[in-house]
Amino acid sequence: MVSNIKVLKDNSNNIEVKEEKYIEPYPRKLICEGCQSELEYDEFDLVMGEYGCMYVDCPICGEHNMLVDNEKSITLTVDNIEFPVHFHHVSVETGAKERCNTEEIRNELRRAITYFRENKEETDWYTWSGNLFVFVRRWSGDENYEVVVSKDFYNMEIDFEDKDYERKRDESK
Ligand SMILES: [Zn+2]
Repeated sequence: MVSNIKVLKDNSNNIEVKEEKYIEPYPRKLICEGCQSELEYDEFDLVMGEYGCMYVDCPICGEHNMLVDNEKSITLTVDNIEFPVHFHHVSVETGAKERCNTEEIRNELRRAITYFRENKEETDWYTWSGNLFVFVRRWSGDENYEVVVSKDFYNMEIDFEDKDYERKRDESK
C-alpha cells in the first residue's frame, strides 16, 4: 500500500527543532537522591557539572543531584569542554578506595604484561580502580613497557559524531 502521507517539512535531521520542547517554569521540585528530602530549587540554584549536565546540590546531605533532562545541560565536544567543570573527579568520588600502592600496582602490571604477551599486536593497556589509574604501552622498537601511574584522575565522555563510526550509518541500510 502506498502511503498518502505528505511530508511538509522534514525535520528529522534538524537538531534545533528536535530539542525544542516544553520548558517547565521555576521553581521546580526534586527528591534528593542522597537523603530523599523534597527540595524546591530555582534557576540560579543550578550548577553546571560533569558530563555537561546541570546539578542541584542538596543543602542537607550535599548530594550532587544530576538533572539529566534539564534544558541547560549541554552535549560535550572537543570544542566546548572545560576543565575541571565538565569532568568527573573519579579519584575523590565518594567511596573511591585508596588503591595507589605497591601491591595493587604490581598486580595491575602483571595483568598488563600477561595481556601483552598473549596479544603481541596490541600497544596500549589501561585500567582504573579506586584512586589508581594505570596505563601501560608496549614499545616493540625500544623493547620495553612504559608505565604511567596516577593516584588522582578525572574522566569525561564525548559522544560520537557521524565521522566517528566505523561505517557510515547510511551504508548499513
Ligand atoms: Zn540530600
